[in-house]
Amino acid sequence: MIKNFAELDLDPNLLSAIEEMGFKRPTQVQAQAIPQALDGRDILASAPTGTGKTAAFVLPALQYLQDFPRRKPGPARVLILTPTRELAMQVADQARALAKNTKLNIFTITGGVQYQEHADILATTQDIVVATPGRLMEYIQAERFDCRAIEWLILDEADRMLDMGFGPTVDRLSQECRWRKQTLLFSATLEGKGVEGFTADLLKDPAEIDAEPSRSERKKITQWYHRADNAEHKLALLKKIITEQAERSIVFLKTRERLAELRTELEKAQIPCAWIQGEMPQDRRNNAIARFRDGTVNVLLATDVAARGIDLPDVSHVINYDMPRSADVYLHRIGRTARAGKKGSAISIVEAHDQQMMDRVARYVKEDIKERFIKEMRPAHKKPVFKKKKKDDKKKSATKAKVKKKTSKKK
Ligand code: ADP
Ligand code: MG
Repeated sequence: MIKNFAELDLDPNLLSAIEEMGFKRPTQVQAQAIPQALDGRDILASAPTGTGKTAAFVLPALQYLQDFPRRKPGPARVLILTPTRELAMQVADQARALAKNTKLNIFTITGGVQYQEHADILATTQDIVVATPGRLMEYIQAERFDCRAIEWLILDEADRMLDMGFGPTVDRLSQECRWRKQTLLFSATLEGKGVEGFTADLLKDPAEIDAEPSRSERKKITQWYHRADNAEHKLALLKKIITEQAERSIVFLKTRERLAELRTELEKAQIPCAWIQGEMPQDRRNNAIARFRDGTVNVLLATDVAARGIDLPDVSHVINYDMPRSADVYLHRIGRTARAGKKGSAISIVEAHDQQMMDRVARYVKEDIKERFIKEMRPAHKKPVFKKKKKDDKKKSATKAKVKKKTSKKK
């Protein structure tokens, strides 16, 4: 098993960039994926959020481009697809940092950027293009981008891309890149609808990597919850937590309406915050993330759509102000803290009607998520208890559950 970056066949100019980024040793997924990719294999890799998947595909791609340098100027040779524009920019940033001692050029094609701006840059030589599928497809259809030079196709967060309905677009892009030599697919999970069929069409005899993170990589997330009697109580708990307990927090909300309400409340309380939500102009999103990243504000409000795949450094607390729709989304949310071996906390503030979801989450993450109290802010209501089904009324409850499902679907 590879323990040091020096054992990977990487150029000194990459090793020095790795060192400057402060990476001491490769993570599991890096140690496994980099040699296989450099061997010319297709890759099918899954590893939890925050375990360094970006460098696991960027490093071999950079090495490949140096091993086989281009002979004449021309279009991009490596294409990286990501589900969102923020993620595209982050991947590009990390690629630029790792490529800083090389002459390689990295460019992004995403929505929210002026067409002309892209066109000008695409006229110059690029080595790596990081793109969101929808926007890239537009460029191809307008004959502004040519995939014929693509040698490596990389899919980042493939599960999310499928979730977001990019499956057919990715298939078409894969067709456009049919002259490629290698395909690398990275994902947090390989379970979920359609990932299998999807990967079968894209990859040729891939090396399968399912990286169990080492103990030091495994997240040290402490999870707990507070119970709130009502909306005011909830707000009071949140204010207390973000001003007195947390250093840097992301607060998750269900909808942008809920986010707007909370923003107003925090403004009233003079607690500075930044916020991101879906369908927000690119420059404003960037600006919000930059203010959070550089520490101008220590609270970031976010909806799930806006937060997909974003790597925000040093988040000490993830706060579920609204419980997520599913346990799976809960896991994605709390993955925003405790990145790359750091410690983090995940706090849920639940009202009585959230208790069932809280219980479901605890079962899903297989942890006993305990309730905590803040002095003088204890809840007045009794904790609702949901009885486990007894064996002998299994049949009865099974039919009941069916009926319940039907009605809950309607709303
Ligand atoms: P993933 O894509 O698996 O969610 P990222 O690639 O976004 O994870 O990496 C998460 C964080 O870990 C980033 O801030 C990245 O800079 C850092 N990181 C990546 N590789 C290493 C490493 N080998 N050692 C230390 N930190 C790393
Ligand atoms: Mg990632």
